[in-house]
This record gives sequence, C-alpha cells and structure tokens, in this order.
Amino acid sequence: PAVPAGYGLETVVRHTYERTRTDTSGALADYIPELALVDPDRFGIAAVSVEGEVVSVGDADVAFTIQSISKAFAFCLALEVAGREKVLSRVGVEPSGDAFNAIVFDAETNRPFNPMVNAGAITVSGLLVEHLGADALDFVLDRFSAAAGRRLVVDEAVFRSEAETAHRNRGIAHLLTSAGALTAGVDATLDLYFRQCSILVTAGDLARMGATLANIGENPLTGTTAFAVDAVRSTLAVMFTCGMYNFAGNWAFDVGVPAKSGVGGGILGVVNRQLGIATYSPRLDGRGNSVRGIAAFRELAEELGLHLFDPT
Ligand code: GLU
Repeated sequence: PAVPAGYGLETVVRHTYERTRTDTSGALADYIPELALVDPDRFGIAAVSVEGEVVSVGDADVAFTIQSISKAFAFCLALEVAGREKVLSRVGVEPSGDAFNAIVFDAETNRPFNPMVNAGAITVSGLLVEHLGADALDFVLDRFSAAAGRRLVVDEAVFRSEAETAHRNRGIAHLLTSAGALTAGVDATLDLYFRQCSILVTAGDLARMGATLANIGENPLTGTTAFAVDAVRSTLAVMFTCGMYNFAGNWAFDVGVPAKSGVGGGILGVVNRQLGIATYSPRLDGRGNSVRGIAAFRELAEELGLHLFDPT
C-alpha cells in the first residue's frame, strides 16, 4: 500500500513540508518575463487518493501556470483524438536526455524524441489543432477542467508574455513543419501551445488531475471521465521515462513514479492506481525543476514507499 498502516498520508505530507520548506536555493524562471514576477517563497503540497482522500498543506491553493505539466495531459488527449498510430508517426517516445527547449530531432525518424520536450509537445498541439480546429483550446480546457474538478482558465498575461518572447519555440515549430511532423500551421499551433502552458492551476488542482490519471482517467472525486483508459497508460509510461527534463533518469532511480514538471514551479507525480501528488515551489534548479518539489518528492517516496520497484 502507498501509505503504511497507522501512518496517515496527511501526517507524512505535513512532515515532508516542514522538513523541506527551509530550502530557498534555486531561482525563478525568467526567460518568460511574466514568470519572474511570482512570489518565490510560495510552497505547497497536495495529494489526492483514488479513494477520495484529500490532503493539502501550505500554498496548495495558490495559482500558477501549468507550463510543461500540460504536455503530459495534451499528449493523453492527442492519443484519444488522433489515435495512437498517427501520434506515433509524428512524435517518438524515446527519452532524449536533452534540455526541454533543445532543437534536436531523432536522426533516424526526423521526428521529435518525445512529447515531453518542447519540440514533441508542439507537435502534439499541432495534432490537436489538425483534428479539432478552432475548438482545440476549448477541448483542452474542458478536459483539463474535468480532471481538476473545477473550471480552469488561461492566464492571459503569461500567454502574451510567452507568445511575444518565443523566438526559440517559433524556430522549433518552423523546423517541425519542414520535417513534416507539424501540418496544422505554425501560428495556430503555437497559439494553442502557449495558451495550454498558461493555464492556471494550483497544487490542489494538479493533485486531482494526477489522481484522475492514477484512477485510469476518471476523476475520483467527481466520477467524471476526463481521459481515455488506453491513453492514460501510454501517458504514464512517457511521464516515467521523459517527464523530468534531463533529470528523468535520476528521478526514476530515486523517486520512481511517473511525473512531470513545469517551469512555473509545479511538479506532478502519479502513483498508479493510488495517488496524485503535486508540489508548488517556483525556485528552479539548473534543469528547470522545482528545488523544493524534488526534495519533497524524494522524501515522500521514501516515507510512503512510493517507488514502483519497492519490494513491499
Ligand atoms: N511554455 C514553456 C516553453 O515552451 C514550457 C516550458 C516548461 O515548462 O518546460 O517555453
């Protein structure tokens, strides 16, 4: 079991929060000007079990932009909408070991390595636009909201800030178009991608979204289905191998659960069939992962025995 008998989830989360809160190392992301404006001291942890237990500590209700954590959910939706075969013809599922914004494709297939790096995620947004046209954003917002159990919205200021400064992502989108991985048009695709990254969530929202994945697509608190069962399995597999930027191998080794982080400061972890766990702390390490988020997950994995390959 995720939680040892007699030792409640709430107690462990509170202890973890207290033990990791004093670490103020790392720095806010500033490559998108709006991201540098958040309060760096915020720290929250939330967990939701598939049985409906909800735990929330610290700043678990403070909103921040989902950023790259959206990539996991968008991939899940693209699998449902475009079908596995088509998605896999455009984007691989191989860890790249590169930074999130690397401009590098798999030389063998001329496709992005995986949907968790920008090149692959932009390809996925392109597939959603290709299949849903102008309805793509509403579709994404509806499904993300169903998973979170409340209506989510886009932070327009972050969206504009991101769109105005996105020369690198624009470059990637043009290269993807020339490689044939992106056919929906650079502007429409990036519009969806930037808005999807600018969706406001709290750690509580992310924990519910994670619990929805853990519960194979059905939000355990509302009973609403947000994601298709087959797509959830594929999504968790890619989160496990590629979800933590170029730290994914270390994460799998130490923490051992599928996860995705974002430069907004969030980290989402999913304990299959058991828990969604989310942390929010916006100071990042050099790879773009939340410093206190990583520390908290390490501790939680240890205390709760979350690692996939734990012997008990
Ligand atoms: N919107 C961000 C970008 O593409 C996502 C970055 C991230 O969270 O890794 O630059």
